Amino acid sequence: MQTQYYIELEEKFGAHNYHPLDVVIARGQGVWVYDIEGKKYLDCLSAYSALNQGHVHPRILKVMIEQAQKVTLTSRAFRNDQLPLFYKELSELTGYEMSLPMNSGAEAVETALKVARKWAYNVKKVPKDQAEIIVASGNFHGRTISIISFSTEQAYRENFGPFTPGFTIVPYNDDQALEKKITPNTAAVMLEPIQGEAGVIIPKPGYLKRVAEICKQNNVLFIADEIQSGLGRTGKLFACHHEDVKADMTIIGKALSGGFYPVSAVLADTPILGLLKPGDHGSTFGGNPLAAAIAREALKVIVEERLIENAANMGEYFYERLSEINSPHIKEVRGKGLLIGVELKPSAGGARRFCEALKNTGILAKETHEHVIRFAPPLIIDRATIDWAMPKIRDVLMTE
Ligand SMILES: *Cc1c(COP(=O)(O)O)cnc(C)c1O
Repeated sequence: MQTQYYIELEEKFGAHNYHPLDVVIARGQGVWVYDIEGKKYLDCLSAYSALNQGHVHPRILKVMIEQAQKVTLTSRAFRNDQLPLFYKELSELTGYEMSLPMNSGAEAVETALKVARKWAYNVKKVPKDQAEIIVASGNFHGRTISIISFSTEQAYRENFGPFTPGFTIVPYNDDQALEKKITPNTAAVMLEPIQGEAGVIIPKPGYLKRVAEICKQNNVLFIADEIQSGLGRTGKLFACHHEDVKADMTIIGKALSGGFYPVSAVLADTPILGLLKPGDHGSTFGGNPLAAAIAREALKVIVEERLIENAANMGEYFYERLSEINSPHIKEVRGKGLLIGVELKPSAGGARRFCEALKNTGILAKETHEHVIRFAPPLIIDRATIDWAMPKIRDVLMTE
């Protein structure tokens, strides 16, 4: 009754650019969320990995409240006492010399693309307006016009042209095809180390390392979009670390704020990010003291609560338990750390109805790409909670 009221309001007054599950969440704590009728659910989406630290983490909440009482926004016209510490701590954690803070993930992707183009003209000496950036099929990097210009997903592009030129698409997970498309004008290659939105697509071992080598040999920047795969999700700080790859630029967002606030950043060393000069780029809210304070604490929680190690351990446990489910609907279970996809056979009739059924048992997961159920709970999850969830997941996959 009450739930229906909120759904009707949303459908009537809001643009229909999402197709949410019909659960109206009123409260979250740790791995759990509660709907307006008090029913409890295990969050296995974590807001697309923005909630690695869990819902309403008490440490981040405390910092947010304290900082909000001091100063929230200065704009970059003035300096503030949080941003420099955020820069320093981010550098110490990630090993990159510099960073550039933005708000949404898409903005950070746009930032990295601009920096790559500037690097191409200023350092590589690509002729004016000729820079090319190579991306992969199945990519998801956000929703701006330039970013959807190189999407291979029809629904993301339809009716939104004309598109931004300068991008070349190659098949994901094919380093030879990528190498063939490099020209003297190639500025950068941008990839997700694991394609989350495409359905948790994990490239073959050695792919990222080979791509990084190809980039190095050809004087091309390698940009890793770790907005979803980074900050511990896959059991390493960055998914590229599984292959000992350090991208020339790494893009982060989502869990950088633990779900409290939009915070994103581009990481790179000084010869690259140092190319930007005053006036080249900016954002009113990017690097504001509230964002910086929240992100500082969100990063400390990841390290001090050993969430990266927990993602590796619990990810393996979750994956093994899922693999034991002998359902006729399952085509494949794949994952790294706590980014796990269960791909269903086409005969299963799509993942949506399984997500609806999971919701009714108290587990929130979302279909991605029609046939894949993504399981990506907060990285604070423990064995007992996985043991609580597994019979319900098995039940849905067996009987639906
Ligand atoms: C979510 C996501 C983005 C876009 O982030 P927004 O904050 O939604 O703009 C970009 N790249 C990847 C890999 C993502 O998962």
